[in-house]
Amino acid sequence: MAIRKIREMGDPVLNKQCKEVTEITPRIRDLIDDMFETLYEAEGVGLAAPQVGILKRIVVIDVTGEDPILLINPKLMETSGEQEGYEGCLSVPGKSGKVTRPNYAKVLAYDENMNAFELEGTELLARAICHELDHLDGHLYVEKVDGPLVNTADLSDEED
Ligand code: ZN
Repeated sequence: MAIRKIREMGDPVLNKQCKEVTEITPRIRDLIDDMFETLYEAEGVGLAAPQVGILKRIVVIDVTGEDPILLINPKLMETSGEQEGYEGCLSVPGKSGKVTRPNYAKVLAYDENMNAFELEGTELLARAICHELDHLDGHLYVEKVDGPLVNTADLSDEED
């Protein structure tokens, strides 16, 4: 396993469409392991393959630090409700912005053995699912921000 370099906003790889995974090869398995390691090292909630420079439809999410979720070729099936809140991205370090997202999301995805499964999430998990799926189509949350980007450090001061 290895920590991969996280690409930052301005890197053109973050604005490209990702390709579906058709077969789980040893390289894909290594990529998945590295994505989880990179996510935990960066203390993030989610990471999409293009953020480490790979244009494949693979996402890792962990909203608690103890609940790793792998989504291969994820497809949004259903959303409902609305939540407004600050969101950040490992590719936009130190910044946050207010983004309205669905409060519920359901995805169809494949696991590391290419078995299909459904995942439902609410609140932070729904936000993370929508945020990470956007990455696979070349979109960053900054396109959806209502108001200015703020420094994440200032935000946590406010909440204390
Ligand atoms: Zn992101």
